[in-house]
Amino acid sequence: MNECVAFIGLGSNLEHPESQVQRAIQALDGLPGSSVQAVSSLYRSAPMGPQDQPDYVNAVVQLATGLLPEELLDQLQRVEQVHGRERGQHWGPRTLDLDILLYGDAVIETECLQIPHPGLAQRNFVLYPLAEIDDHTMVPGLGSVQVLLAQCPRGDLVCLEETAHSVG
Ligand code: ADP
Ligand code: MG
Repeated sequence: MNECVAFIGLGSNLEHPESQVQRAIQALDGLPGSSVQAVSSLYRSAPMGPQDQPDYVNAVVQLATGLLPEELLDQLQRVEQVHGRERGQHWGPRTLDLDILLYGDAVIETECLQIPHPGLAQRNFVLYPLAEIDDHTMVPGLGSVQVLLAQCPRGDLVCLEETAHSVG
């Protein structure tokens, strides 16, 4: 089986978001033919879209996987369901959101799968944790994560571990 390195974006803003994200990381490590190679810090970000919802907790994971992109999406959606995700309002609150940010150097444009993930270059809560893992990673068609990061304001993104550090 050919292994590929994928990056997965995690987000949650319901039902103990930090533990949702931590448990999801364990679940990713348990996917068939897959193992987590690196995990970013956890971050807190303001919601996109509807503002009458809690802040999000976000992280990015580097996953070595033998799953094909469509198989990986299928598995991620299963994990979302196990975490009680109910699909409602677009960009509405959710217990768990798992997005494939990158899958090797693949460029995919199908009805149900777009890779690189379309929001990647604009979203601070994706780029900052991704850069923490590997800022030399290339985003096909757009350049390195480092270059994209330099063009993306940090805004109100908070690194939760850093917060814990400065408080403690
Ligand atoms: P969003 O993440 O934009 O808030 P959802 O998680 O509800 O929205 O996903 C909506 C659809 O996005 C999914 O059914 C899936 O088919 C599609 N999708 C397209 N590209 C990707 C990707 N790279 N990773 C995850 N889902 C994707
Ligand atoms: Mg999603």
